[in-house]
Amino acid sequence: MPRVIPNTKLNLSIGNGNGEIVALKMKGQSITLRLAGYPGYYGQHWIIEGGKKKPVPCARVNSPDISNPNPCDYCDRFLAGEDDLKPTVSFIFPALDRKSGKPILFDTRQQVWKEMENQESKGIRIFDYDWLVERTENKPKYYEVTRLEKDPLDTAQAKAYAEAKALDVDKFIESKIGFKKSKEDIVIDDSLIDENLLSEIDSQVEEKEEMPF
Ligand SMILES: [Zn+2]
Repeated sequence: MPRVIPNTKLNLSIGNGNGEIVALKMKGQSITLRLAGYPGYYGQHWIIEGGKKKPVPCARVNSPDISNPNPCDYCDRFLAGEDDLKPTVSFIFPALDRKSGKPILFDTRQQVWKEMENQESKGIRIFDYDWLVERTENKPKYYEVTRLEKDPLDTAQAKAYAEAKALDVDKFIESKIGFKKSKEDIVIDDSLIDENLLSEIDSQVEEKEEMPF
């Protein structure tokens, strides 16, 4: 992990630095967006430490090789009955926020992607349309995902859309899970985990959680 070099600009921003993180945090909130690329995703477990809930990366969800997932001790404990250890999975979409006209990283859940993926599989060019995503908290669909009529981008929005395409989703996800989502960096065998490394990863994750983007 990098160290601070005094008086040097730190590389903390995402892409061109304009990628605001947007999430629908409450029931009734909605957003209209144009997708600028396929989403990335990452998984976390939430553990209680010192009376505080704290995220730890899920080795299984974050496996680089989907067909050969890494084992995860927290997932094993969840399957053994510790319900609180269910992993949460975030999907991060690079997008243009059509109302604000800004490039954003939209932080949401798999269901939103599933709806878009379903339409793409029917031949819809999902990047050509705007999408209205509403947090309705209905069952079974927690989010309502609606494809809107084609509405061309004006010059300013086309420029912001190009910026959205350049946002670095992987880098954002690396900042959330504390290490690169690449094969070499993922500890595959639990017996190889050393406690010092674990606590180092943990403290980095905690720090990153509070890092302003
Ligand atoms: Zn897990």
